Amino acid sequence: MSATVSGNRGLYLEEPLLFEQDAPGRCGVDLPAPAPVAERLGGLRRTGAIGLPGLSEPQVVRHYTRLSQKNLGIDSTFYPLGSCTMKHNPRLNEKVARLPGFADIHPFQPQRTVQGALELLGTAAHWLTTLTGMPAVALSPAAGAHGELCGMMAIRAALEARGETRRRVLVPESAHGTNPATAALCGYEVESVPANQRGRVDLDALKGKLGPEVAAFMLTNPNTCGLFEDEILEIAEAVHAAGAFFYCDGANFNAIVGRVRPADLGVDCMHINLHKTFSTPHGGGGPGAGPTVLGAALAPFAPLPVVVADGQGFRLIEHAAERPGAQPFGRLKGFHGQFGVIVRALAYMMSLGADGLRQASGDAVLNANYLLATLSDELTPSYPGPCMHEALFDDRFLKGSGVTTLDIAKALLDEGFHPMTMYFPLVVHGALLIEPTETEGKDTLDAFAASLRGLARRAREGDSAYFKAAPTLTPRRRLDETTAARTPVLRWSPPADRAAE
Ligand SMILES: *Cc1c(COP(=O)(O)O)cnc(C)c1O
Repeated sequence: MSATVSGNRGLYLEEPLLFEQDAPGRCGVDLPAPAPVAERLGGLRRTGAIGLPGLSEPQVVRHYTRLSQKNLGIDSTFYPLGSCTMKHNPRLNEKVARLPGFADIHPFQPQRTVQGALELLGTAAHWLTTLTGMPAVALSPAAGAHGELCGMMAIRAALEARGETRRRVLVPESAHGTNPATAALCGYEVESVPANQRGRVDLDALKGKLGPEVAAFMLTNPNTCGLFEDEILEIAEAVHAAGAFFYCDGANFNAIVGRVRPADLGVDCMHINLHKTFSTPHGGGGPGAGPTVLGAALAPFAPLPVVVADGQGFRLIEHAAERPGAQPFGRLKGFHGQFGVIVRALAYMMSLGADGLRQASGDAVLNANYLLATLSDELTPSYPGPCMHEALFDDRFLKGSGVTTLDIAKALLDEGFHPMTMYFPLVVHGALLIEPTETEGKDTLDAFAASLRGLARRAREGDSAYFKAAPTLTPRRRLDETTAARTPVLRWSPPADRAAE
């Protein structure tokens, strides 16, 4: 590729850090000189420069706009990242979350002045408990993993209240890493349960591991292979017969919402990733919410606060003493959790309605099966039969080609698609986990499938050099990921300091 004079390539503009663009004295706003005030800092007033870059407003606007164009995102392209459920975020939700009655309130306001916000929490709780068939929900967990922590802490509290000290938690070998991590954080020993030939939990192996030492079994359903655990009723029965609790990882609720109520499957508690099932932004690890629904045996141990309605209106219960008969295990979060995320999720649920949520899960499963069927002759599906909301392939189709799953993902970047999830779940070799979600139309699915089929053929024809060079059309080429992980450069230091280093 011929280099340009500027280093820019059309729409791809080289973008220095804001600190590197610093022009001392430049300012985006025109502030009046501060009025003189009496020195109250006892001589500790800063004398050196504060170190913020001098920038104009258009510079800052361009900076962030350019950065936003360097990445593939859900608002720019198809983003089939399995397990993560990158759903479209309807703009209506954003509009509702910005209403002053929701956006401009403070957790310390008197409760009588925020009755609408409390009612919203109560209504969101009603939707989540109705959709799952569970009597209670804790709204404060800030992510799926945090919701797992909530559920496992409730389980631990319930066992302690019974005077039992069970030490082990069982998880399937295909479990998301957060499951064993959560159990370990709660002080449990983690033991994994193998899968059977059909990609589901091996029921006999599970039964063999259950016993008086087991506190809980954590299961994702549909599981991380995109398959419905069809023996889930037998699993629940066996877990309960051993006196253990049945935790469900609800990250894949998107596939069954409006069709199956986890309570009817024998589940004792389950977290819900609002950013996966109810279309709230994933936010790059930013504010999320992972409400945890709890069955009757665990509800008394739910964390505070909870919203209750009585003749006086809505009320927040903040202290255990106000909840006779219950034994809340504590709090998980300052104030009430990510309120703005719950506003968005409720806007989504109410705008779709119960029938719309049911259609969304049906369409998600239909789209995944369309891709599974369309790709099955070129790629290698890991398990026979239909899938739920995500289609799992392994790398057998690349055998002998010298091309890896990672190479396919890099080549997809040049095709203008965000790659699928790679190398997860760990139970199949070189996994490619594709989750199209319900909002994609047939034209997008066909375009993606055509690219992937073309790449699979190219790999088999022996063009491994093409793959090893990919991506070639992105703002950055293939990165040295090992160095990036081992010696990340996380701080900018001014050139003078750098010279001194
Ligand atoms: C996403 C996910 C989690 C963790 O959820 P976060 O909201 O990212 O903390 C747990 N289990 C499964 C199966 C997931 O897909």
